[in-house]
Amino acid sequence: MSPGALTNALTIDVEDYFQVSACAPYSARDTWEQRECRGERNVDRILALLDARATRATFFTLGWIAERYPQMVQRIVAGGHELASHGYGHERASDLDEAAFFADIDRSRKLLEDLSGQQVKGYRAPSFSIGQNNLWAFDCLARAGYRYSSSIYPIQHDHYGMPDAPRFAHEVRAGLLEVPVTTAHFSGRNWPASGGGYFRLFPYALSRWLLARVNREDQQSAIFYFHPWEIDAGQPRVAGVNAKSRFRHYVNLHRMEDKIRRLLSDFSWGRMDEIFLVPQATRK
Ligand SMILES: [Zn+2]
Repeated sequence: MSPGALTNALTIDVEDYFQVSACAPYSARDTWEQRECRGERNVDRILALLDARATRATFFTLGWIAERYPQMVQRIVAGGHELASHGYGHERASDLDEAAFFADIDRSRKLLEDLSGQQVKGYRAPSFSIGQNNLWAFDCLARAGYRYSSSIYPIQHDHYGMPDAPRFAHEVRAGLLEVPVTTAHFSGRNWPASGGGYFRLFPYALSRWLLARVNREDQQSAIFYFHPWEIDAGQPRVAGVNAKSRFRHYVNLHRMEDKIRRLLSDFSWGRMDEIFLVPQATRK
């Protein structure tokens, strides 16, 4: 890590392996209660990893998980991390109408605030599902009292993406910032540079190069995201998932924890709210 380097935002989307959008057709909501939950122990492993490096992060947490594991929520907060919302039941914003979306984000924020005793300022839509066709979601987020969202991925992808969106933090409604997930821009297009399946698939050196490029060329903090189930190679397999989704979900899970360790030592990391919710004039 070079002195004076930008601090990047480390984010964890707290959901379990059976709640992932790609698995949704094969793991109906009414089966969730019967499935083996592994989120809490995986979050504990992440908390230990971060603690060993004195690193603070933002945990975008599903209300469904928080409700069942309130002590996990308290451990996240006690570790000095930011607790933020990933909605209640991992429904994509693009699958809901305005009233249902508002109910989801309002319920999850109140639940997380009750459990943690802290103000919840941030929201990330499941599967980055805010885009050109549902920008009304920002009206709902502002109305529900959120201060920022990190829900747009400015790339072309089969499940999500808004390739023409601004690449960096910008005010979308009065008092509400959208902080898009990080892309690197070259050869005339945006490339995913912030985690997920790409991070597990690409060699580590490529991911490091992409993030460093954003810090160096764009002079901007990057955002990295991963999920607790991504460090859990022993998770139960969800039956019936098609070949493409199966590949995306399971590729290189066993290498993930080691890659995260390298990422923690190669860059400087912090919480979303501490990096982005400061007056623009004092931002580096
Ligand atoms: Zn998610």
